[in-house]
Amino acid sequence: MVRDVVKPDQIQGIGMTSARTRDRLVSRLREQGIQSNDVLQQIRRVPRHLFVDEALASRAYEDTALPIGLGQTISQPFIVARMTEALLSGFDGENILEIGTGCGYQTAVLAPLVKKIFTVERIPDLLRKTKRRLRQLEIHNVQYRLGDGWAGWRKYGPYDGIIVAAAADELPRTLLEQLAPGGRLVIPVGPSGRQELNVVIHQADHFERNTLGAVSFVPLVKGT
Ligand code: SAH
Repeated sequence: MVRDVVKPDQIQGIGMTSARTRDRLVSRLREQGIQSNDVLQQIRRVPRHLFVDEALASRAYEDTALPIGLGQTISQPFIVARMTEALLSGFDGENILEIGTGCGYQTAVLAPLVKKIFTVERIPDLLRKTKRRLRQLEIHNVQYRLGDGWAGWRKYGPYDGIIVAAAADELPRTLLEQLAPGGRLVIPVGPSGRQELNVVIHQADHFERNTLGAVSFVPLVKGT
């Protein structure tokens, strides 16, 4: 049987996708305040050029969001690093819910750092391609669901962490309900042009809400 995996030299990259180019990105993220070595190592390891169209591969290690078709984008590496770091800080849990799988870049960065990811995406075509891509990269601790992220994924909750890659106009109550005690929800909240990254911690008797600054995400669409 031929195994459907990406060849090591494709993952490694050459020229604008090589180790040196990736090291430059990692240094930049470190300068901008990303401290977690686990997260930085993942940014170095994950072949972001395999998550974008071949025509954009030479720009894959720029710290910028890029179009991936169907009106969606691959998130900016700094934001992925920042959100992953915020999610995992003080973390000893294992189950993560991700809303907005998209091309799966955030999923790939997070996967080796946690036990299991449950990820929800509303666009069928995107989800199908992403499943295949992550399988080719030998990422196997992810379970996929086509559906509306506003509803979360109750079956496997509560979750130690929930990470949302699209902006909600308010904190989704259903997601708060699926957050385990001590768990964290990392989510952009607000209308276009005025979004802020929120980190909500499920404390014993309340939800503690902190903000990490302005961000720019596609909207978390209501309904599928
Ligand atoms: N995580 C991706 C970025 C995803 S962009 C990365 O690492 O690059 C945001 C994604 O959220 C898009 O794919 C969009 O289709 C999806 N999305 C928007 N609203 C949604 C909803 N209500 N439920 C599930 N997915 C949603």
